[in-house]
Amino acid sequence: MFTRSRRNLARWFTLSMGSILIVFAGVLYYQEAVEQLALKDRLLYKKARVIAASVQYELQQGQGRVDLSNVPFLGNNPPPADTEVIYAGWYDRLGKLRQFFGAPPPEQLSAAFEFQTIKTTNDLPLAKSKVSWLRQLTLPVRHKGQLIGYVQVAILMADAQDALRGLLMFLIMAVPIALGVISLTGWVLGGLAMQPIRFSYEQLQRFSADASHELRTPLAAVLSNAQVGMLAPLDQGASKHLRLEKIAEIAKSMNTLIGNLLFLARQAGHLSPEFLKEVDLTDLLGELIDFQSTTIAAQHLNIKSDLPEQSIVVLADPDLLHQAVGNLLSNACKYTKAGGIVQLRLYTQSCSAVIQVEDNGIGIPATDLPYIFERFYRVDKQRARETGGFGLGLAIAQQIVQAHGGHLSVKSEVGQGSIFQIELSIHKN
Ligand code: ADP
Repeated sequence: MFTRSRRNLARWFTLSMGSILIVFAGVLYYQEAVEQLALKDRLLYKKARVIAASVQYELQQGQGRVDLSNVPFLGNNPPPADTEVIYAGWYDRLGKLRQFFGAPPPEQLSAAFEFQTIKTTNDLPLAKSKVSWLRQLTLPVRHKGQLIGYVQVAILMADAQDALRGLLMFLIMAVPIALGVISLTGWVLGGLAMQPIRFSYEQLQRFSADASHELRTPLAAVLSNAQVGMLAPLDQGASKHLRLEKIAEIAKSMNTLIGNLLFLARQAGHLSPEFLKEVDLTDLLGELIDFQSTTIAAQHLNIKSDLPEQSIVVLADPDLLHQAVGNLLSNACKYTKAGGIVQLRLYTQSCSAVIQVEDNGIGIPATDLPYIFERFYRVDKQRARETGGFGLGLAIAQQIVQAHGGHLSVKSEVGQGSIFQIELSIHKN
């Protein structure tokens, strides 16, 4: 699926960038052609103007005549190679050829005036091949406002064509190479773009698989308890009650698990400000210790609280914060042997409020530390199951702290204990 998407991304990238490249190459070629033509036309116009200026009108004959000696680049016949002029003709006002230089121009002036591109198969002095393209300009010449004839000049287009051919060859070679580079870039970029999606997809898949697996175990227990209850008609009284109690207990833990899963699925990103209240952490942690005191006493643990006298206020959802610190406290109790110490601290550090939950319990191996905030991750699966854990408590605590823009970290050593620390920004009025 990901390879197909990556291929599609690369294909679309190549197609779009390739089309842009081809259009760009076309525009470049067109502009060069226009530029070359404009260059030729300027040159042609200059030459035609010089020839037109050399026309001498002979009144008695009512005819014009071109004086060659006045035309600097047409002094010889044929014209010197560097003039580029293929022919220059002088036509009378009826369009009949009177004089010419270079290759013979048409005898009769064609109807089309001004600039013209024409193809010729004549053997031309400067032409490299049999078929040549010429640019021709026909200028009307007037004497005292009266039309006396036309000057027609043609130059060879070969050098402009050579320049265009060179550009075309370059584009023909460069465009496929650029297309190859673009498709390779598209493939690499497609891979990079797919990476986070692939990662999230794999995480989601693992999460769904873990969640289904966690739900299957208690469901199987409910089913077997119910089936045994149905099979044994004599299963009455205390035994039946025990089975129903077991089913209710499993259903309760499943309910907790589903609640946790729903929380993790729904709560993403930062909390919106309308859910945030000014919360006094000193009060909140005090209430939490009262709340957990029965569990702590039942497990024969010693709790020490180190809370400041003054209030430390943060902007938070009090229920969520209660749940996050509650998860850390209940873990500290779960993973500390009877007689151990659990400590709850609150203090300020520059602009942050720091909550620490410390225990001198079993600790967490260094190899497991990077993963303990992942969903369903448990260091000792058997032990965690015995203590009723699904491996979601820390993931939920971290998600809550992050939703408040805070930070949750851990330090732990096997056999020594663990310190979980929450940092939140202090709210200043
Ligand atoms: P669980 O419901 O299994 O406790 P958590 O997400 O709360 O899941 O914790 C993940 C794992 O991290 C636990 O299974 C346990 O192995 C380890 N852990 C968490 N807190 C502590 C602690 N205070 N001391 C030792 N191990 C801990």
